[in-house]
Amino acid sequence: MSNWEKNIRKVVPYVPGEQPKILDVIKLNTNENPYPPAPEVEKILKEFNVDSLRLYPDPTVSDLVKAIAEFYGLNENQVFTGVGSDDVLAMIFMTFFNSDKPIIFPDITYSFYDVWADMLRIPYETVPLDENFRIDARKYYGENGGVIFPNPNAPTGELLSLEVVEDIIKNNPDVIVVVDEAYIDFGGESALPLIDKYDNLIVVQTFSKSRSLAGSRVGYAMANPVLIKYLNDVKYSFNSYTMDRLTIEVAAAAVKNREYFEETTRKVIKTREWTKNELSKLGFEFGDSKSNFIFARHPEMSGQKLFEELKNEKVFVRHFSKPERISDYLRISIGTDQQMETLISVLGRILCLKSI
Ligand code: PMP
Repeated sequence: MSNWEKNIRKVVPYVPGEQPKILDVIKLNTNENPYPPAPEVEKILKEFNVDSLRLYPDPTVSDLVKAIAEFYGLNENQVFTGVGSDDVLAMIFMTFFNSDKPIIFPDITYSFYDVWADMLRIPYETVPLDENFRIDARKYYGENGGVIFPNPNAPTGELLSLEVVEDIIKNNPDVIVVVDEAYIDFGGESALPLIDKYDNLIVVQTFSKSRSLAGSRVGYAMANPVLIKYLNDVKYSFNSYTMDRLTIEVAAAAVKNREYFEETTRKVIKTREWTKNELSKLGFEFGDSKSNFIFARHPEMSGQKLFEELKNEKVFVRHFSKPERISDYLRISIGTDQQMETLISVLGRILCLKSI
């Protein structure tokens, strides 16, 4: 071993879902939106002033911050933006999780949380989900260095009521509680109205799912101005120009079109409910997902086998081999009606062939 080896920060990185190079696949593996971004986005791209790229972008991202604040009826000093909610969450871990006590999050959840904690040397403990893959709020009431959980949770899609979310916030007054609402627009009730009531609450959302802009990388946090100031201080100490000029314009235009956002999320929800119905006819078991994916297993075929059979048919879903408890499940993102019809007929064929 070379001498410098011992000084290296060694990390086990997060593994994102596969982005296949071929385009003729049915891609239901990374919870993207099947519909294009709001029409205004194309207009921005066509009319963008290329010469402006000579100049650095606005480090305060004020046009986008203003548009988000207007959408939610907030003040601009209650909004923080980042390059995807992954960036926002990484900044939050760096800024607010600095206790000697462990931060806590569910044992089955977004698999980036333990990666950030390990990388930043933040102690953490995981809290087991109950036998129905639900978060038990009472297990979050003890002493800790901070709390984070997605609502709805990923990859299970299980939603906590606002009442239960408030209970967790209320019972952790001495630490920061982060509610990761990446999927909240698909049928959940946001904790946003609570940011004025609780000074320890941060709500994180993203443009990647309900606003069809995963490719642009835009996320945001909403909290009281004191927390937002602390977050910005860390961001400016790390990299002041995170979001580029084009993305700022694109995202600001997208968030202004409320009608399109509501229409596309409604469509995704409708397709999700149709898919649940069809999956149960095929014998799949799953919870009542309120996100843009369904977490399902089939009692007669392993998760690994189903995943591979689907991939052979050019249908990509997500399969997690660890932990063991979820290794028989597939996380299936909601696509268009047509994509989901194909998924159902391919699954029907796979399960039928197996029984011959
Ligand atoms: N939180 C959760 C729970 C997620 O599933 C994801 C998507 N991978 C993210 C945050 C990050 O999404 P993005 O960086 O695209 O905003």
